[in-house]
Amino acid sequence: MIRLSGLLIALTLVSACQKAEVAEPAAKYDSVVRCGAVIDGLSDSLGGETYFGIQGQRISEILPDANPSMANATLVDLRDYTCLPGLIDMHVHFDGLPDYADDYTIFLRKTPDDLRRLSEELAKIVLDAGFTTVRHVGSYMVWLDRDLRDRIVAGEVVGPRIRVGGPYLTIPHGGGDLYIPGIDDSEIPDYYRAGVARGPDEFRARAQQVVDGGADFIKIIASGAVFGHGSDPGAPEMTREEIAAVVEVAKAAGIKVTAHAHSAESIKDAILAGVDSIEHASLGDDESVALAAKHGVAFSMDVYNGTYTDEVGVANGYAEEFMQKNTDTTEAQRIVFEKALAAGVTLMFGTDLGVLPHDLGAKQFEIMIERGMTPMQAIKSATSVPADHMGLQKDVGALDVGRYADIIAVRGNPLDDIRLLQQVDFVMKGGTVIKTSAEATTDAGKP
Ligand SMILES: [Zn+2]
Repeated sequence: MIRLSGLLIALTLVSACQKAEVAEPAAKYDSVVRCGAVIDGLSDSLGGETYFGIQGQRISEILPDANPSMANATLVDLRDYTCLPGLIDMHVHFDGLPDYADDYTIFLRKTPDDLRRLSEELAKIVLDAGFTTVRHVGSYMVWLDRDLRDRIVAGEVVGPRIRVGGPYLTIPHGGGDLYIPGIDDSEIPDYYRAGVARGPDEFRARAQQVVDGGADFIKIIASGAVFGHGSDPGAPEMTREEIAAVVEVAKAAGIKVTAHAHSAESIKDAILAGVDSIEHASLGDDESVALAAKHGVAFSMDVYNGTYTDEVGVANGYAEEFMQKNTDTTEAQRIVFEKALAAGVTLMFGTDLGVLPHDLGAKQFEIMIERGMTPMQAIKSATSVPADHMGLQKDVGALDVGRYADIIAVRGNPLDDIRLLQQVDFVMKGGTVIKTSAEATTDAGKP
């Protein structure tokens, strides 16, 4: 009898547990996203209806049909939409708007708090446009990007995942220095000039400060900027020795270096000094393109924003000097893009957001296709290709098991009309719905 009692008690306990499970079953997924069609960032073809099971911010399972274990999860029903991985923009600045280039004294009137608030607004705009990851390639305000990222990670601010570059490394009065004609350098606050250096030793020290500050990569201005006073976009600014000094520090820290470079000479210097990627590359020649292919150096080319600057520059009051440099670099860069594509150079989507309004990044896809990419190539250049370059292939860049549930959706097929990506209907970051149009239904219901 004693033994039987023990058995009865055990049975009762088991049955109590089972009752609890029936009353409140543990969901296998936090949510499920149903997509009518899928471009996953990896495959070369469009996939059909797909269910993404999401758990703890990441995609935990991908199935072609609804599964009984999905029954209790929140369903995001995008059956009329094509889903894609959250897009990646490799060339973003959050410390300014295009019309700031009209008069850089605006940076002297802004407080660090003003810029902080501006960066938060811009981060939300970029995320709403479907870019769930960005590489922030420099700011005048030192560590604006790192501090913004930290507030986003802490959940205080809504924005994309940010790869932090810290301040531009640049020569005095170079393309990344906040130099304003007629204003003495002593009147520019130090926090705008944290990356200014000259000579390999100074650049080595500056690069070490950027590493110690927690940058994910280093950004250098190898040659002049289009929107820099008195600098020529083609003229090399940093020497090959200075660039090599920065690369040495970066390599020791296990991070990459990206170089802003326009001219063929400057591109070659940067590649031979060991950088990992080049931005703009607008005045490259066949030799510099071949060198990039040979050394596995990627290009991030902003092939749309010249059109934007051309359209609004005069109304924005840009200096004649800026307009001329824009004209000189726009078509030239598109031709280099065609050559780099043909030569097999890795091309990463980067738009120079900041020069381009922060909601217009996706306009660049159309130019990339006009200049020779297939729609799928253009999408990969904004998803899996830059994710691989940044070593983030376990986290972002594809709709794949284990990666973050960063999902965007549009109505229709972007492979037929890439301009659909200019108006993204739905944005999810890490399993949280950021933006949804009225038609893209989010229901708590059964698949
Ligand atoms: Zn830029």
